[in-house]
Amino acid sequence: MGCGCGDCEEMMQPYMDGMLSDEEVAEAREHLERCPWCDKRYRFEERLRRYVRVATDEPMPDGLRQKLESLRTSSPPTV
Ligand SMILES: [Zn+2]
Repeated sequence: MGCGCGDCEEMMQPYMDGMLSDEEVAEAREHLERCPWCDKRYRFEERLRRYVRVATDEPMPDGLRQKLESLRTSSPPTV
């Protein structure tokens, strides 16, 4: 949404994995503070990750997995 979010989207995964340098982390945080869309997206990803981690013990039903995938790749959440 016009904020150069392509960059922070690329940053998001390594950010959550703790793979970024301090400088990059600061940059990512700063962007999340300024950009409600990325902030939301980050929160969503975080929740999804937690859920996936919990769910890895059990096979995920195809329908649910597809639903999660479509949520992940869908357009920005409505504000
Ligand atoms: Zn953004």
